[in-house]
Amino acid sequence: MGIHILDAMAREGFEEVVAIHDRASRLRAFLGIHDSSPGTAFGGIRRWTYRDEDQALRDCLRLSRAMSHKCALAGLPAGGAKLVILDRPDLDVSGAYRAIGDHVERLGGRFYTGPDVGTGDEELARVAERTRYVTDPGPAGPGQLAEATAEGVFAGMGAALRHLDGTEDWSARTVVVQGLGEVGRGLVRRLVGVGARVKAAEIDPERALEAHDEFEIELIDPASEFDQRCDVFAPCALGGILHDLSIARLQCRVVAGGANNVLARSHHAERLHEMGILYAPDFVLNSGALIRGALFHLEGREEPVAAIGTRIGRTTAGILDRARARAIAPATLASEEAEDVISERRRAASREPNPGPTRLV
Ligand code: NAD
Repeated sequence: MGIHILDAMAREGFEEVVAIHDRASRLRAFLGIHDSSPGTAFGGIRRWTYRDEDQALRDCLRLSRAMSHKCALAGLPAGGAKLVILDRPDLDVSGAYRAIGDHVERLGGRFYTGPDVGTGDEELARVAERTRYVTDPGPAGPGQLAEATAEGVFAGMGAALRHLDGTEDWSARTVVVQGLGEVGRGLVRRLVGVGARVKAAEIDPERALEAHDEFEIELIDPASEFDQRCDVFAPCALGGILHDLSIARLQCRVVAGGANNVLARSHHAERLHEMGILYAPDFVLNSGALIRGALFHLEGREEPVAAIGTRIGRTTAGILDRARARAIAPATLASEEAEDVISERRRAASREPNPGPTRLV
């Protein structure tokens, strides 16, 4: 069924959704700006082979709203956005990213972009040929963004365990990690370092073996990743993996991972809550890269990865405590709190003259 875009925008408070087409490169993309009331909206570029336009648009809306929530809960003076490219074999990839650079430049700093699935340093370099409103991976520290994410996930996981048992007690824990990409490997390194037992699933056999050799972890069949008896299930692959069928298979006490939009639908947060599984909200745990990138570009400082972990651990603990006090799912509470921050910012912005794009250092 087609998406009713204007209804969805009104319901979820979007500022603007733009369809982008570039004839020369055959680029087809959507840009969702959920909130730029603080001056700038941050959001990466995802390039993915979507089934159709509808699926791409839905992904764009979900991801940009999640970015707003992430920024709000991380206390950053920025809102959320996302650009999704509909990948296909005849796409002129370099040309497409240059065309995006032109579009971003025309927005004059209202949208600030960076990496996401399908968009790495090489693609961002093409965007940077046309605009300065794009993450520079150099000064921000190569690899440091994913490291910041992994540190935040580890800290948030620790906060969840403390919330349940009063202690992390890592050496007595079994953690199942789904996905051994940049974030998954960073997380595994930390877990192995504190003595946790790690089981990991990875669909790319080469990556799986590399991680197995480096960390001496147990590899499990990806087909059985939801069925493992464990303390924590850590999704670090793709979004939408927890739905009615997979949730029914879980045998963990905590879900805490780095993947964006882990829950297929928002009501799955309540489902996990009813089952007694503590779901630590993904958009809190995986905000490390955003915090590091945003502070670098907004304030010119390289926030140490450890400090980012401390910050995310504290935020997670606060959300879990307040959710417990109200007996509601932590992800539901986190979304409500994020929406409150966004509404307050918008009220403040409507009272004051528009500050214009956030000044970048
Ligand atoms: P990545 O592409 O490096 O790694 C993902 C890995 O998951 C790949 O190795 C892939 O083969 C594997 N995978 C896919 N489906 C799987 C399955 N069903 N079972 C097991 N393995 C599977 O990506 P990444 O940068 O590590 O990001 C992982 C997730 O975290 C994504 O959802 C991303 O949006 C999110 N995230 C990443 C960052 C960051 O800093 N990189 C920041 C915020 C959120």
